[in-house]
Amino acid sequence: MTKPASPPRERQETALPPAAVRAIGLSKAYGSGPARVVALDTVDVAIPTGQFTAVMGPSGSGKSTLMHCLAGLDRPSSGSVQLGDVALDTLSDAALTDLRRREIGFVFQSFNLIPTLTAAENITLPLTLGGRRPDRALLTSIVAALGLADRLGHRPAELSGGQQQRVALARALVTQPRIVFADEPTGSLDSRTGAELLRLMRRSVDEFGRTVVMVTHDPSAAVIADQVLFLADGRLVAELVAPSLEAVLERLAALDRGPA
Ligand code: ADP
Ligand code: MG
Repeated sequence: MTKPASPPRERQETALPPAAVRAIGLSKAYGSGPARVVALDTVDVAIPTGQFTAVMGPSGSGKSTLMHCLAGLDRPSSGSVQLGDVALDTLSDAALTDLRRREIGFVFQSFNLIPTLTAAENITLPLTLGGRRPDRALLTSIVAALGLADRLGHRPAELSGGQQQRVALARALVTQPRIVFADEPTGSLDSRTGAELLRLMRRSVDEFGRTVVMVTHDPSAAVIADQVLFLADGRLVAELVAPSLEAVLERLAALDRGPA
């Protein structure tokens, strides 16, 4: 596979910080023959470091596929993903798993906690699996920031949805990853609990210096991001920097109307 030697897109060279993760010509197809579905179609994207990026688009537009490919959870059909200086396609499965554990946090809509482990054990699981010890001071500050100090001995079934998602966010933050992906993290939460989780994700960018990428259907969630990427039919079709609610709603309406 040849890697295009094209320079980074103009906006990285000017206003924005360097990319935490970058995709070049990223395509992903599922199935074959008449059942073939092109989930991503030659997407070029760079996620700026230390910022909050939201991803929006109709259902089936490729948002989850993009997140999974950027996070090394799935291999693209063509194109490449670069995490910092590392091209993920050059890594073996074992090396990719190791890199993912160290450099990437992922928050799923359905929490994906291990039911038999306590909140504390779930939070430190990525470290345990990688044979690492938690940094106690960091762990304490994350647990305090997420309001989980009195829930650490509870198992997921003994926690509310909002608490479970905060445990999942703590688990994503505890390795101090280069980037945190969240795929509709508020999709299973009521609006008040969802808003609280969004504030915590925003704080993880502002106070812990993390880079966050979040898929959301909710325009009022997207506006807490520094920029919003819009996908349609597997393509990146628009970007808004410093999004206002009006601008997001206008973009979504334009997507609904389809190409002019
Ligand atoms: P979104 O998250 O925006 O709803 P997805 O990335 O989940 O979109 O899906 C994009 C397209 O790829 C959809 O048409 C979906 O049906 C298809 N797709 C996703 N995952 C698979 C899979 N494992 N097998 C077959 N098709 C898939
Ligand atoms: Mg999805």
